[in-house]
Amino acid sequence: MPRKFDVPALVEGVRAGSRSHVAQAITLVESRLPAHRPLARQLLTELASVDTKTVRVGISGVPGAGKSTFINSMGQLLIEKGHRVAVLAVDPSSSRTGGSVLGDRTRMGELTQHPDAFVRPSPSGNHLGGVARATREAMLVVEAAGFDVVIVETVGVGQSEVAVSGMVDTFLMLALSRSGDQLQGIKRGILEITDVIAVNKADGDNAGEARVAARELSIAMKLVTQQSGDRRVPVLTCSALQRIGLEEVWQAVVEHRDWLDETIGLENHRAQQQVVWMHSQIEATLLDSMRSNEQLRNLRDRLEDDVRHGRTSAIEASGDFLREFATQVPQMDWAQGKNVL
Ligand code: GDP
Repeated sequence: MPRKFDVPALVEGVRAGSRSHVAQAITLVESRLPAHRPLARQLLTELASVDTKTVRVGISGVPGAGKSTFINSMGQLLIEKGHRVAVLAVDPSSSRTGGSVLGDRTRMGELTQHPDAFVRPSPSGNHLGGVARATREAMLVVEAAGFDVVIVETVGVGQSEVAVSGMVDTFLMLALSRSGDQLQGIKRGILEITDVIAVNKADGDNAGEARVAARELSIAMKLVTQQSGDRRVPVLTCSALQRIGLEEVWQAVVEHRDWLDETIGLENHRAQQQVVWMHSQIEATLLDSMRSNEQLRNLRDRLEDDVRHGRTSAIEASGDFLREFATQVPQMDWAQGKNVL
């Protein structure tokens, strides 16, 4: 029996800021049961608001960079400033390691305890599209519940960064000074989507080294941004552990968001993110429906074999595949969300 959800009660509870309702609503949007998708959509439609006052920040960095320590400290600083802070995560690998790593409550102990914070681990699943979709929707839930700062944490591996940068206003990279060649540690693609860099662990004996690393990164970032003619990416140092430099990092985040608002406009930016998201949903859903259809899978295997042995050309084979796909489409259950990620 799939779990039952009372959508009107969830809407009311979330709007009232009830944590248990927020948690339940997120469980619903994370659910991969086809029967839950229409309910999730109904929930999101009713919660939808055009409020752009929320601050959406993505935070990335290699494991050990200090993400959870940073979020724990920064979250408390923001609460002191009067914000309500929600922490979500995108970690498509979490199912492989068994249990979620990112956004783990135990990693952000103090913040989790706070009534003005809401910490949610990454939804499970190793399909980035599905995990990112669930986090995006969870973001709408926490915003409707009155959390005005949403932090989305992710690991520094590449694709998930791109997914997260597509759902936040500002993308903050936590770097380390001892990761050898600074640019080796951070993939170029990630640098291109980074809006603010903070070299963490700038404390004790490591403070000087962190400042050197920040200078090097700053020069490297100039090279990256020169080509695209973008704004200069600020590179700061901080200590998440000793809570040094966090105000400045937050200030840089706020300044980037203001810059975004003055140039592109925050609403335009978010609208454009929705357009990109729509395209990626269409593509991911189509691919997924092709992969999960048995006839298509069998045909694909056969065609692969034919192409490999020169019995047919790649073009011919792709045409055959797509024709079969077209005949399968009417049986696919789009309306019920079965084929929708
Ligand atoms: P994550 O894997 O990126 O979430 O990193 P963690 O927040 O779990 O931190 C990894 C280790 O680095 C832990 O032992 C932290 O105590 C330590 N750490 C995090 N931030 C700082 C910092 O600002 N200074 C120092 N010295 N250690 C830190």
